Amino acid sequence: MQERPTRLIILVALLLAAALMHLGSVGTTHAATQRRSSQKIFMPAVLQRPPATQDLSITHIGLYQTVQTAANSVSLIAHKPALLRVYAQAQGAATPPVAEVTVYAYQGMTFLGSLTIGPQAVPAQPSTDILSSTFNFDLPHDWLSGNVTLTASVDPVNTVLEVNESNNDHTAQFTFHDVAPLELTIIPINYHDTRTGRLYEDEPHDPISDWLLGAYPVSRVNVTYHLPFNFAGDLRQPGEWERLLRDLSTLAAAEVGSTSATVYYGLLPTTHASGATWFEGGVSGLGWIGQRVSIGLDLGVDTGNSAAHEIGHNFGRRHAPCGNPSSPDPHYPYPNATIGVYGMDTDEDVLLSPGANFDMMSYCGPEWVSDYTYEGLLQDQLARTAPTNDPGEGLLLRAAFDGETAAALPVYRLNGAALPADDSGYSVQLLDERGTVIATHPATLLEAEETGVAARMLVAHAPAPRVAVAEVRFLRDGKMVAERKLISSGLDTRAQTAAATSVAGGLRLTWGQPGVPALVRISADGAQWTTLALDVLGGQMTLTREQLSDGGQIQIVPGDGGPVMTVELLGG
Ligand SMILES: [Zn+2]
Repeated sequence: MQERPTRLIILVALLLAAALMHLGSVGTTHAATQRRSSQKIFMPAVLQRPPATQDLSITHIGLYQTVQTAANSVSLIAHKPALLRVYAQAQGAATPPVAEVTVYAYQGMTFLGSLTIGPQAVPAQPSTDILSSTFNFDLPHDWLSGNVTLTASVDPVNTVLEVNESNNDHTAQFTFHDVAPLELTIIPINYHDTRTGRLYEDEPHDPISDWLLGAYPVSRVNVTYHLPFNFAGDLRQPGEWERLLRDLSTLAAAEVGSTSATVYYGLLPTTHASGATWFEGGVSGLGWIGQRVSIGLDLGVDTGNSAAHEIGHNFGRRHAPCGNPSSPDPHYPYPNATIGVYGMDTDEDVLLSPGANFDMMSYCGPEWVSDYTYEGLLQDQLARTAPTNDPGEGLLLRAAFDGETAAALPVYRLNGAALPADDSGYSVQLLDERGTVIATHPATLLEAEETGVAARMLVAHAPAPRVAVAEVRFLRDGKMVAERKLISSGLDTRAQTAAATSVAGGLRLTWGQPGVPALVRISADGAQWTTLALDVLGGQMTLTREQLSDGGQIQIVPGDGGPVMTVELLGG
């Protein structure tokens, strides 16, 4: 802002000097006559304006949130931080002229405001490659919604003499899409390593959402912490990863439903208080393709991008082809899984070049996200967060695979919506006591795959029929792959009762039917439930004070259709 007034003062001073010289000559007619010829030469010198040879123009403006193409074709997200690059160019100048660039924003006829940068040198050749060669604006929050028209103007107050003063503006229109925030439920895993007997646990924390906020097409990530989930096993064995992922999927299905947009992410600690670690390399995460449940190691700085990869699978993304991943996406558009277009980390205003950064769905790094993956994530988020009908009460039906054979898991009566049918050819049948088929529903095949580990599971959520279900059968292309007889069909269906007794450190629950697996859950309001344990056998379990803090009531949902038992907790 200094340059403009200074320049004006110089001009005024020169004009004054010229005028004074003229006045000073009035006294002597003779001298004036002599001077008259020299004044003709003097006047152009007063203006100090040689014929203009230079020209300022704006060749392009680019608006970046995470990635952007040269044509600004990547979808923009309302209220997500955005960096505007204005490509101001000076042609025909011996030295780069100094000028301001101002950006004006309109929403329809409403003027939103303007921003100015400079004066600073205008380069002869602004380059996409060099962030500092463009005039870069962090756009204000209230410019980032709806349809916005941005006009960038170089030298708007006209301090630079130009060959063409009419090519200094560039206007472009942008549409910002409203996208629901990413709901992320972090489930701290209390991992009891059965090989060493050590318990790995950590305080609830969030090493993930910063990375998601930068790379995903959302303006907000809402993080909630689930009660820790207890898992005993040996995660050095790939099959145990599958079991943990399956457990968390049941948790999600029981709490938010299988069609929910909420991501359930199990965060696995790797370091023991003693400094010991169970992790010896290998699998670091696993996530279903198209179902929003995944798990990953808490590995320090890499936790965020590793989670972004698994959650990317949850958003339906397959592997990008670098680092030899399994089942790469044949439609990935760029060779070797590079991001293909320029990326921008608006948190630090770092430009990421197309050929030197790799899509987060590959096994190569440094990781960022391509426009292809970004648009895919956006479509999935829009589809998943579209309003749906309230899920009614139904039966959660599951089957686990062991190689080529499958086993049907306990059936729970829970609220939840049916999953959309896929083309896997799987279905599930409900049969009554006489073996008559009451209903047939599509079953969804969930799959997850990383190097060294694969997981599969069948899930269906069927409306509960009026007739008692005695048997569940999973079929593939009409051929039975797993069946389960529901124990409760032969049980006394009068309300069972559960009892609670205070014990040191918590509460001991007991209920009948020790042979029936049960799902135990707690709620403060009777509407939102938190699952405490799955498939519990033995008719009893002890809850810690930490698990009880959500207070209200506890339910024991017996597997295979028995009546739900409720325990009211005393306040306080
Ligand atoms: Zn993967």
